[in-house]
Amino acid sequence: MNSLQVNNGDIHTIKPVLRPSFSSILSQDEYLFRCEKARVTLIDGFINGNSEISGDMNISLPQWITGILEARVKIKDKSIEKENALLLSVADRDLLIINLRMMTFGHEIRGITVCPHQNCGEKFDFTFDLTSLEIPHTEERKELLKATFNRNKKPVNFSFRMPNGSDQEAIADLLSVDSYEAFLCLVSRCVVNIDGLSCVSPEILSGFPENSLTDVEKAISKEMLSFDWDIKLLCPECENEIISTLDIQSFFWKEIQIAKDDLWNEVHKLAFYYHWPESDILALSRWKRKMYLNYINNHINR
Ligand SMILES: [Zn+2]
Repeated sequence: MNSLQVNNGDIHTIKPVLRPSFSSILSQDEYLFRCEKARVTLIDGFINGNSEISGDMNISLPQWITGILEARVKIKDKSIEKENALLLSVADRDLLIINLRMMTFGHEIRGITVCPHQNCGEKFDFTFDLTSLEIPHTEERKELLKATFNRNKKPVNFSFRMPNGSDQEAIADLLSVDSYEAFLCLVSRCVVNIDGLSCVSPEILSGFPENSLTDVEKAISKEMLSFDWDIKLLCPECENEIISTLDIQSFFWKEIQIAKDDLWNEVHKLAFYYHWPESDILALSRWKRKMYLNYINNHINR
């Protein structure tokens, strides 16, 4: 069931729109690993204290996602390892993070949004059920994709690969400074052959006519299995439709940042009552940590 509940209790049927996205470049029990179908499992599935504090280090969001995947994902019963976590396509990383998020915080997303319509600006809560997302089937995936674009009214052939985690990491810093440069950098990394050239730098790409670059972007977007979900909301005040885009990687990161505000207090409480070392407490899954804290609280209340 695709449903979205807004705070006034109205239920709106929504159809998530799959929209390839460069900016968010922002992941089922079975994933496609490169072109090979492989079984990927999530270790315990729960985020522990070490993963929660890893966001404090001076690393980009894609680097944090790679670290989480490296720690929590197994492939063919072995740790996926950093190298392979980086090779996972952006879409697979999204799907894995959705599953980890559901195991950590549940399947409901709670958000606050502000109506962008003129003379409104109403701030309202919304909830969204992650299980209502339609995950596209990716039975067949080619390692190399081919497309054409027009340059000076002549068709030019080019081939490219899907963007992956290493691409996300490479453009992360640039993305916050200059999204156009980040786009050129991403295309240059993913293009395998363009008009006979085996590699093309961002500088060469910047010399392409604007409509040629638009064609290249459209061609890659069409094939790219990265997705954001556009969530349709209805403003309870002015009743205008609002589209809110869900970028699960950054949403999960923000949730962990907010949730870990209590972490050190919790570490202190567990160390005080059980005399466990800090490293053991941080290695506990979030779920187990909360369970022991609940025991302590029940004991105190008695
Ligand atoms: Zn409104």
